[in-house]
Amino acid sequence: MHLILFGAPGVGKGTQAKLISKNFNIPQISTGDMLRDAVKNKTELGKKASLLMNQGKLVPDEIMLELIRDRISHNDCKSGFILDGFPRTIAQAKELDKLFSELQLPDVTCIEINVPDEEIINRLVSRRLCEQCGTDYNLITNPPPENMRCDKCGGTIIQRKDDNEETISNRLKVYLAQTAPLKEYYQHKGAFFSIDGLRSIEEIRDDIFGILKQ
Ligand code: AMP
Repeated sequence: MHLILFGAPGVGKGTQAKLISKNFNIPQISTGDMLRDAVKNKTELGKKASLLMNQGKLVPDEIMLELIRDRISHNDCKSGFILDGFPRTIAQAKELDKLFSELQLPDVTCIEINVPDEEIINRLVSRRLCEQCGTDYNLITNPPPENMRCDKCGGTIIQRKDDNEETISNRLKVYLAQTAPLKEYYQHKGAFFSIDGLRSIEEIRDDIFGILKQ
């Protein structure tokens, strides 16, 4: 099972990727999480990516491709994987195609989660997460405990640096200009599904599981 979860920031790709990963026993590959880890660990990659991420800009394609190439060569990717946040440009998608044919992987399924822009902004400004285990919270729909400690692991609950209004607006512009055109790219290739992301997590999950079990 090789899956791309597609959609603007904040539509719930990460939340759904975790559910799919658990149910189908394949890893979630979140390029955003990988970059945030690199920033946290102050690696060379982290140093290069940090400013771009804080500005809501994309990290260069060559860097992202190297990261993905390395990640999907790991053993845990043998029965498939979920790409969350990759590809984000046509160039990334084309290189991913090449990588798939080089590694003789089956065709990818692309599932888009659709949420209107106004709702995305609301969701992102109120989004919080556990610094330690990554559990997602939302001040409105899924409020964290009052002491801002994760109820799963006790870690500190934080706001992502790029979840402020100015950066969110840049991220949405970048999405429209560079990532949204990928929809047509995957529609042409077939195996493209679009689902309504303005519903409960469980309803969206059931739709996705339905598609994947087909
Ligand atoms: P995300 O967690 O997916 O919202 O990603 C956070 C940030 O990481 C993005 O705003 C970009 O700066 C960077 N990033 C993540 N994935 C990619 C990608 N595939 N290509 C370029 N930049 C990326």
